[in-house]
Amino acid sequence: VNYLDSINTDDRDPLLVSMRAQAEKEDIPIIDRESGRLLRQLILFGRVDNILEIGTAIGYNAIRMAKIDKKIHVTTIERDAAMIKVAKRHINSADLADRITLIEDDAVDLDTDTLNGPYGLIFIDAAKAQNITFFEKFEPLLAKGGLIVVDNVLFHGLIDKQKDPSKNDIESKNLKALVEKIDRFNRYVMQRDDYDTAIHAIGDGLCVCVKL
Ligand code: SAH
Ligand code: MG
Repeated sequence: VNYLDSINTDDRDPLLVSMRAQAEKEDIPIIDRESGRLLRQLILFGRVDNILEIGTAIGYNAIRMAKIDKKIHVTTIERDAAMIKVAKRHINSADLADRITLIEDDAVDLDTDTLNGPYGLIFIDAAKAQNITFFEKFEPLLAKGGLIVVDNVLFHGLIDKQKDPSKNDIESKNLKALVEKIDRFNRYVMQRDDYDTAIHAIGDGLCVCVKL
């Protein structure tokens, strides 16, 4: 356990602790602790109460966000049947079925008319190659002054690595292509002047875009 994790008093909720342990054991990429802390502060500071998440996995972050305040409602989208099953179980044991809506669909195909926006926060954390697709698809549902937050934009340091010729030793073609796509999103979002965007080098890289 690192220093900051050892002194932080959050993330001690027994369900969240056991879910994080399960995710670590099964290699399920849930949000890093420090990114989770920043996300929580953004939600609190912005008094966000309607949240859309793309990519539920086992429901860790959806539950974590819903637990911030009783007025918060989270809609979260997941396409993988095995994940959906586990997420449902966790949402029920957290007694949050009334404040977390799990949409069982592919976020690429989903009809956005079925969603109850506007959302104060849209958290994009699904297939990383589709970040631009998700950003453009869901941004019409964002409230004015709302936030779009995208996780894993530094992708285990691989973006940095591939962009520096002296460090680049990535062999896999698929991985290289994925890194290129994440980099393309990062550059794209920086150039959108209708958002104030900053990429924070915490956790796995957290991109925060404030709608102007
Ligand atoms: N947000 C979660 C972790 C999500 S991991 C947390 O921090 O706790 C990414 C998840 O996105 C995986 O479960 C994967 O199945 C899902 N996913 C990837 N592409 C998707 C898509 N197009 N539609 C819906 N879910 C998707
Ligand atoms: Mg993530």
